[in-house]
Amino acid sequence: MTRDDVHREATTPPLEMMTRLVIGDIELFSFVENRTLSDGGAMYGVIPKSLWSKSSTADENNLVPMDTNLLLIKTRKLKILVDCGLGDALTDRQKKIYGCHSPSRLDECIARLALVPEDIDIVIASHLHLDHIGGAFAGHPDDIKPRFPRARHIIRDIEWNTAMNPDDRSMAAYPTEMLRRFEEFGLIEMIDSDIEAGPGVKLVLTGGHTRGHQVVEIESGEQKVIFCADMIPVAGNLKPTYIAATDLFPLETLEYKKKLIEDAVRYNWILALDHDTEYKFVTLKRENGKTVPVKQGEPFLVAMSSCSQNIRDSKKSTR
Ligand SMILES: [Zn+2]
Repeated sequence: MTRDDVHREATTPPLEMMTRLVIGDIELFSFVENRTLSDGGAMYGVIPKSLWSKSSTADENNLVPMDTNLLLIKTRKLKILVDCGLGDALTDRQKKIYGCHSPSRLDECIARLALVPEDIDIVIASHLHLDHIGGAFAGHPDDIKPRFPRARHIIRDIEWNTAMNPDDRSMAAYPTEMLRRFEEFGLIEMIDSDIEAGPGVKLVLTGGHTRGHQVVEIESGEQKVIFCADMIPVAGNLKPTYIAATDLFPLETLEYKKKLIEDAVRYNWILALDHDTEYKFVTLKRENGKTVPVKQGEPFLVAMSSCSQNIRDSKKSTR
């Protein structure tokens, strides 16, 4: 086995990792767009490895597998995709930066959900780092097209401005040129305040990870789900001070996280985690002073044979 083979094997998530959750009259699906290898230290910031290694297992190069978990929200009238993963319009350099060794599963997952890209009404970007917006681009990296040609792509203006003029530290994480080209398709809806993207689907600015980072709060039938994006990427980050080194404003992350975790325990809110390989939807409980995640939702897997037409359609529409 070559090193590439080993990496590919380590970064091929099992297909059964689609999870379905219903709250009130909203149906939610968490699915894995890709699996990457990330530096363990980067995931936990100032926390020494002797501590964080109890939460995440790293390989001999200190790499930890991380999923790009996307969220599909199906309301009565709308199909809303929260975050797009890395996608497949990537340069070799981008693949390297993000530890991406496997092909994107975005088209396949959309088909397994019995949808084609044209069905998506709204795309929400929690922020514009490549592993959250890349899947919005189809085609060749130098000649991108929208993957979801009918969708309004809702983007925070502060985040857009940061992505257009990234500081030296953030430059490698933003696909600035691709975003500039994408803008020409006229699908971007820029927002400058918290809004409701659809009934029961609210976008809330958090800052913390980036200046314009936002989370998505979904509420129906007196239940609430929060897609907290990179504020709590993996279950190991449920300890308030276990904050990624990539966060530009870690004290904002700390403040947001402490309050969110407290409220989630008290009101039994469900959190959707965007990078965990194991925990997709969780409630939280307190055990001996620790915050413990409890899995929610059910495995969801549709046989590919019943989706082959969808796959063909989705190939046609994105090539
Ligand atoms: Zn990010």
